[in-house]
Amino acid sequence: MDVWQSNRITTAVEALRRPLKLHFIPFLAAGHMTPLCEMARSFAAYGHHVTIITTALNAISLENDVHLDIAAGHCINIHTLQFPSEEVGLPDGVENLTAVTDNDSLLKVCRAATSLLQKSFEDFVLQNPPDCLVADFMYPWAHDLAARLGIPRLVFNSFCVFSVCVMESIKKNPITGQDPHAFTIPDLPLPITMNIRPPIPFLKAIDKPLELEAKSYGLLVNNFVELDGVFVEHYNKITGHKVWHIGPTALIHRTEEETAKGTHKNEPCMSWLESRKPDSVIYICFGSSGTLPDNQLYEIACAMESCGHSFIWVVPGKDEAEKEEEKERWLPKGFEERMMKEEKGLILRGWAPQVKILGHAAVGGFMTHCGWNSVVESVGAGVPMVTWPLHSDQFYNEKLVTQVQGVGVEVGVEEWGVWVLDERKKTVKRDRIEKAVRRLMDEGEEGEEMRRRARELGEKAREAVKEGGSSHENLKTLIRELQETRDSKLVNAT
Ligand code: UDP
Repeated sequence: MDVWQSNRITTAVEALRRPLKLHFIPFLAAGHMTPLCEMARSFAAYGHHVTIITTALNAISLENDVHLDIAAGHCINIHTLQFPSEEVGLPDGVENLTAVTDNDSLLKVCRAATSLLQKSFEDFVLQNPPDCLVADFMYPWAHDLAARLGIPRLVFNSFCVFSVCVMESIKKNPITGQDPHAFTIPDLPLPITMNIRPPIPFLKAIDKPLELEAKSYGLLVNNFVELDGVFVEHYNKITGHKVWHIGPTALIHRTEEETAKGTHKNEPCMSWLESRKPDSVIYICFGSSGTLPDNQLYEIACAMESCGHSFIWVVPGKDEAEKEEEKERWLPKGFEERMMKEEKGLILRGWAPQVKILGHAAVGGFMTHCGWNSVVESVGAGVPMVTWPLHSDQFYNEKLVTQVQGVGVEVGVEEWGVWVLDERKKTVKRDRIEKAVRRLMDEGEEGEEMRRRARELGEKAREAVKEGGSSHENLKTLIRELQETRDSKLVNAT
């Protein structure tokens, strides 16, 4: 063997040992960014070189975690891009959907992220080519970008696989509208019944990203296989596409220090929970941009006062110092004071430490909009739900919770919003809300059975992320496959 040949073999062997270089491009919304960045951290924790590409303001929200990882010796960094505020017509300080309160601004953030920033994302990736590109499904151009570089593209869409199966089924079997009431989703391994139909603009909006997603190297899911159950195999069967369940991400990087991040503002809620009995409190939150109209908030307040169960209620967009007459538009007179005096309930204006609250023993239920992260965080904490979907995949997620896993009660929403901040015409009335809360929280047989099932699932979730658990093993397998893909190219090239 000559020196040249020997050098070639040495290079090839060294390549086999080299860590992967991965770039992550999260979409600019908390429900997408948090889980994808947690996944990025998992790769870094395994010794791989990770870069998260995002805008300056979004980078600030990630810095705490990234500093902790760097201090632990992990190779992770954030590459920041300038958000095109002026070009898109948004004030400084608005770079994420969590910061918007109207649909016009929401569409502007989406346009900036998916279209105006495309060139900056691409330039960075082309100048610093990774071994693998992990991008949100809101960036369909990532498909061509990865193809140009000849590298695998992994997709993240912030859905569970159950919901993707439902979407695929509806795509193939368009809903005819013949039955104005309940209908069963065709071609699924279990019968799933829905009462309202998805709006056409939503179906159209997800069509193209889903199509490109199916052509990617594979799908990353913030879930564990045990929760998607038979739908994992069904997804493989109908799409032939690879999927890796590597969550729940909220359970992965949870040292005491990390769980405490960013929670100080609303920290008193944790000490308030300390004084509550186990499973006695219902946590109410409608996601990262879940503002409800005042008349709907009023109905919730009346239902909570009437049923008498303790609650923590997150209400974004309301000022602590608002005038009494403004407050009385969304709360009965004296409600907040009464609830505090009787130690019945807390209203949190703004951002709550959701994962931490759900993890507290006093919390026995979660009234949720069924955003996927909220569902998987609730399951991870072993907490059953009152389901109140607002838009998009949330209506499918609800069915996984109630019809497949039996860990939730439906409040009975009759209106499927197209966009996050759509005005809702149909209010869910107080008696319906009260009934659903009572079914879950009254210590009746039905609620206790759901609680038992939720605990069992929570246990499985914690097992999944441990050494040897399903999500842990999936991540290891994925890393090995990505290394093999890269190294086989290198060996072939030598
Ligand atoms: N979240 C939180 N505090 C809040 C509201 C939301 O920590 O006051 C987090 C929640 O834990 C979850 C995410 O924001 O991780 C919301 O994601 P989800 O998919 O549930 O809903 P979305 O906001 O995308 O509709």
